[in-house]
Amino acid sequence: MRKTKIMKPLKITKPTPIEELKGICKPKLFLKRDDLNGLLVSGNKIRKLEYLIAEARDKKCDTIITCGSVQSNHCRTTVAFCKNFGYDCHLFLRTKNSPEYTGNLLLDKLLDAKIKFITPEEYKFRDEIMKEYAKKLKGKRSYIIPEGGSNEIGALGYIDCMKEMADFIEKEKIDAIYCAVGSGGTYSGLLLGKQLLKINIDLNGVIICDTVEYFTNKIADICEKAIDRFNLKIKIQAQDITLIDGFVGEGYGIPYREEIETIKMLAKKGVILEPVYTGKAFYGMLKDLENRKYKKVIFIHTGGIFSIFAYNEVLK
Ligand SMILES: *Cc1c(COP(=O)(O)O)cnc(C)c1O
Repeated sequence: MRKTKIMKPLKITKPTPIEELKGICKPKLFLKRDDLNGLLVSGNKIRKLEYLIAEARDKKCDTIITCGSVQSNHCRTTVAFCKNFGYDCHLFLRTKNSPEYTGNLLLDKLLDAKIKFITPEEYKFRDEIMKEYAKKLKGKRSYIIPEGGSNEIGALGYIDCMKEMADFIEKEKIDAIYCAVGSGGTYSGLLLGKQLLKINIDLNGVIICDTVEYFTNKIADICEKAIDRFNLKIKIQAQDITLIDGFVGEGYGIPYREEIETIKMLAKKGVILEPVYTGKAFYGMLKDLENRKYKKVIFIHTGGIFSIFAYNEVLK
């Protein structure tokens, strides 16, 4: 792959706060409030898009195409980003049946995304479908963003997040960081940042779909591509990747009792988690902490607040 310098991002996030959350677990717990970053309280996807859309800009593209589940936070953030920077936005959304316009999907519609629904079967061929579609958009220069914005470019955004936390981690002697793993870009960026900055900390990703094997390969691949393309002077091996299993439940986006109880417990402290990512990851962290001797940990709150409206039946 061609080696390049890291592109200048379209920076719209400001450093997000790190706040202590008391009375939840034995170690001192901090939340990195990436749920509060800019552009309709976007969550983690905005950091990836700062780089991805910068590349679209550098390539003189005028149209963005991406995909995700019907309540995808990534897709909603992408449309919001596009509308603020003047791009057309086309979304391929995975759904079994005709969905209700609520949560993220309602926002996609309001923000004027061109929406196409595809079945889970078709979604397996999402990359081919998006490529074919881009060819057919006459007179447009399209830029295709993969699921979750998780590739070597999107991951750069989470190197930035690690940089924001570096001083705090050192000063407070933080033992571990926890985050949700849904398409692997967030974890990949944090891991790249950890190695680049030589931060001595455990990085624990709680998987919320698929398998540990799938994500270990995907994360290793994203990191390898970033190291190669941007000429980073670090090495990453499979043993550097720590993923926690056992909290997926029945599958992506399917909540379970302990998770819902965790969401309700946090809500009483004024913090909103959601059932797809942060609910499972936070519950997974609490269970994992029971077997660890950490004194201080950070949970990355990756956002996703709008999807709770698609879960009002289980949450109310
Ligand atoms: C996408 C998402 C994640 C997972 O991040 P990945 O980089 O896809 O692994 C976690 N939390 C929320 C709220 C998300 O929308």
